[in-house]
Amino acid sequence: MPSADVLDCQPGLASAPILESYPARQAALPGGLVVRRALPRAGRRLVGPWCFLDHYGPLAFGADKPMSIGPHPHIGLQTVTWLIEGEALHRDSLGNERLIRPGQLNLMTAGFGISHSEETPQRNSGRLHGVQLWVALPEARRHLPPSFDHYPELPAAALGGGRAVVLMGELNGVRSPATAHSRMVGADIVASDDADLNVPLDSSFEHALILIDGDVALGDRKLESSTLYYLGTGRDAVTLTARTGSRLMLLGGAPFGESILMWWNFVGRTPEEIAKARNDWEQGSRFGSVAGHLGDRIPAPPLSLRPQRPRG
Ligand code: MN
Repeated sequence: MPSADVLDCQPGLASAPILESYPARQAALPGGLVVRRALPRAGRRLVGPWCFLDHYGPLAFGADKPMSIGPHPHIGLQTVTWLIEGEALHRDSLGNERLIRPGQLNLMTAGFGISHSEETPQRNSGRLHGVQLWVALPEARRHLPPSFDHYPELPAAALGGGRAVVLMGELNGVRSPATAHSRMVGADIVASDDADLNVPLDSSFEHALILIDGDVALGDRKLESSTLYYLGTGRDAVTLTARTGSRLMLLGGAPFGESILMWWNFVGRTPEEIAKARNDWEQGSRFGSVAGHLGDRIPAPPLSLRPQRPRG
């Protein structure tokens, strides 16, 4: 979620298979939920169109409400909400109210502007584990009207040694029904036996992996949790050694080819349009209002237009 720094995000220029690791940094969301932010990181701001990855949980809770994110705006991106355990309730300025459970996808396309809230519902399992991802919209699509889609189930690709639920794009010939605006893949991979896990890749894409649960090695490199492993381009497969039940997220896409600016919840191209979006939110225009949410809207942080590097 929010960062008060403007990030000038140049696409990476890897043209070959590489292996770089970027430990996540801890961040607290409005409402207090502590996340591990694996993207953007210093040195790695984009993987294809993927520009943001928060991993939270697993956690167990009682009467409290770990996720409580009041109404806030977005532009220029899609939010991808994916739970491994628990529930979250989404409300937005288009009037959507949707409970999401594990195995389901909430995809919100901000386009020129939307606002939403996300919270742990009153009736819940007392567990929470999930990821929140953002996809940058390409120039030709980033001013589209906002939309929201809920996908109650997603297709899975059979892999050697496991299976992958395809959230966005395509993997091993299996295509997600979710609307993507550039060539990409986002998948939740689970190892189903102790044999090698073989994941076919599009060699024209750049890719990254993040370990969510279990024990996985790439060659002789044991993957650490809460670390983004950037694989570069030019791989037609990746072979992993994984203990049964281990889980990873695979992100990838055609190198984005556009520099973006990220500030708070906005993805734009110029400081002026970021400042305009901030002003519109503060003035209560453009982003509508989130009906049904009882808490306060989140005010925009102060805007300093000097581009920052992602915090270490
Ligand atoms: Mn949001």
